[in-house]
Amino acid sequence: FPSEKIRNFSIIAHIDHGKSTLADRLMELTGTIKKGHGQPQYLDKLQVERERGITVKAQTATMFYENKVEDQEASGYLLNLIDTPGHVDFSYEVSRSLSACQGALLVVDAAQGVQAQTVANFYLAFEANLTIVPVINKIDQPTADPERVKAQLKSMFDLNTDDVLLVSAKTGLGLEHVLPAVIERIPPPPGISDSPLRMLLFDSFFNEYKGVICYVSVVDGMLSKGDKVSFAASGQSYEVLDVGIMHPELTSTGVLLTGQVGYIVTGMRTTKEARIGDTIYRTKTTVEPLPGFKPVRHMVFSGVYPADGSDFEALSHAIEKLTCNDASVSVAKETSTALGMGFRCGFLGLLHMDVFHQRLEQEYGTQVISTIPTVPYTFEYSDGSKLQVQNPAALPSNPKYRVTASWEPTVIATIILPSEYVGAVINLCSDRRGYASFDYEDAEYQASDLVKLDILLNGQAVDALATIVHKQKAYRVGKELVEKLKNYIERQMFEVMIQAAIGSKIIARDTISAMRKNVLAKCYGGDITRKKKLLEKQKEGKKRMKRVGSVDIPHEAFQQILKVS
Ligand code: GDP
Ligand code: MG
Repeated sequence: FPSEKIRNFSIIAHIDHGKSTLADRLMELTGTIKKGHGQPQYLDKLQVERERGITVKAQTATMFYENKVEDQEASGYLLNLIDTPGHVDFSYEVSRSLSACQGALLVVDAAQGVQAQTVANFYLAFEANLTIVPVINKIDQPTADPERVKAQLKSMFDLNTDDVLLVSAKTGLGLEHVLPAVIERIPPPPGISDSPLRMLLFDSFFNEYKGVICYVSVVDGMLSKGDKVSFAASGQSYEVLDVGIMHPELTSTGVLLTGQVGYIVTGMRTTKEARIGDTIYRTKTTVEPLPGFKPVRHMVFSGVYPADGSDFEALSHAIEKLTCNDASVSVAKETSTALGMGFRCGFLGLLHMDVFHQRLEQEYGTQVISTIPTVPYTFEYSDGSKLQVQNPAALPSNPKYRVTASWEPTVIATIILPSEYVGAVINLCSDRRGYASFDYEDAEYQASDLVKLDILLNGQAVDALATIVHKQKAYRVGKELVEKLKNYIERQMFEVMIQAAIGSKIIARDTISAMRKNVLAKCYGGDITRKKKLLEKQKEGKKRMKRVGSVDIPHEAFQQILKVS
C-alpha cells in the first residue's frame, strides 16, 4: 500500500454519543469483524469497559476497504481507525491517538447536540491540525433534531453544514457515506517513504506470551521483521521479533510501510523501556526525534497498598504491567506505618483512579487498599521554605516553623447545558454533585486555608488516615472519620480512644469500650469440629489485621473508611 492509499483517523465524541458503536459498524462494513459478532462495542475489550459501558482505552483497528467511485475502477484502501474514550479523565488517550492520525470523525448525538467533551475533543483535533469530518449520529431517535445540531456545529466550530453526515450507527442509515468521506476529505499520511525509518511509539501493553507490545505509527521509511531498531529516549536497541497490524486482533504482516499504524514486538525486558511518545529509528542511523507528547499533569494522588500485607511483590508486578498500558499514571514507592509498603500514584481524575484500581483487581487479581485521594498542595513556612505535598502524611503535624500560606490547585471548568437549568446547576455545583457535561483544564494554584487533619488511635497518629482539608471543613470531616472508625473497629481487650486532631489540638473524639471477645461464646454444646472451625476463622481474621500501636484494625475497616463518599 503506497501512502496515498492509507487513511488514519480517530473517532472522537462526547461520552455515549456512539463512537464505539460506529466503530463496530465500520469494521463490519469492511469485513474486519463479522456482522452480529454478538458483542457490541467490540473494541471495548477490558472488563471495566464492559461493566461500566465506557471506553477507557483508545483502540486501533486496521481495515481494508474497496472504494467505488462512479465511472472508475474500485480501488483498495488501508484504513486505520482509532476509537477513543470520551470522558475528560482520559483525554490524554485521545490526544495521543490523534498524533497517529490525519483526520477525525467528530460524532455528535442528534438529540443531545454538542456537549462539553464534543468541544474539548474538537479543539484537541483542531490543534493537532486534523481534518474534521462531522457526523451526526442517532438520527433514528424520535427526539433527534439534526438541523439544530448542524446549526450548533456551524456556530461553535465554523463547520460547513453541507459537510455534515447524518447517520444511525444503530440502524445503519447513512453509513455508506462515512468511509468515502474519510477517503475524499482526509489527506493521506505525509511521510517520506525513502527517508530513514522514523516511528512514533504511541501506546503499549503487556502480553503474557509476547512481552511488551508497542503500538507504532510509521512516520517515514519502512520496517521489516528482523530489523534492528533503537529508541531515542531510552537509548535501548532491539531486534524486531514480530511486526504487524491490529486487524483488529494482532496479525503479523512482516512489514510496516510509511504512514501505517501497527505493532512491533521486541525482546524488551521491562515495561519501563517503552516510553510513550518516544521516537523509534533504525539502529546506526541519525534522525530528528519526533515532538512526542506533552507531559501529563496529575490532578489526584492516592496511596495504593496490597490488601494483604505479603502481596507487595505481586502488586509491584501488576502495577508495572498495567502502567505499560496506561502511561498517564505516575508511580513512586511509599511506606506507611499502618499499611506497610505500597505506592503513591498520581491520576488524571477520580474516575481514572477508580478504573486503575478496578483494572488491578480484574486484570491482575490484586486486591488493593487505596488511601484518601488528595490533590497536590503547597505550604509555605515562616522561614520562607516551601513544601509540595502529594501525601498528607508527609506534612508535619507540628512543624518547626509556622505555616504562613497554603495553596491548592484549581481548574477552569466548562459546563454546557440548556439555559433553563442554569439556576439548578449552580446549586448542584456548589454542592459538588455532578450534572450536565463537564470539562476542565489546569489553572493556577490559589491561596487557600488548608490544615492537616490527623487521626489518632490511643494517642498514635495513623499515617494512612491523614488528610489535608480546608480549615472550615476540618471539624465536620474529623467528626465523620471518628464515627466511621468507631463503627468499623471491633472492640479490643482494652479501651480504644479515637481522636481527630489539627496539630496538637483535638477537634473530635470518641472511645470504643473494652470487651473480651470470645468467639466460642455462641458455641454451647460440645461440637469440637465447629469450635475448631471458629478458632481457625479467628486466626484467619487476625492475619487480615493491621496493628497500629496496640490497636488491631481489620483491612476491611481501612477499605470502608477510605472509600470516597
Ligand atoms: P461511546 O461512548 O461514544 O463509545 O458510545 P457507545 O458506542 O458506547 O454507545 C452509547 C449508547 O448509544 C449505546 O447504548 C448504543 O447502543 C447507543 N447508540 C449508538 N449509536 C446509536 C444510534 O445510532 N441510535 C441509537 N438509538 N442508539 C445508538
Ligand atoms: Mg466508546
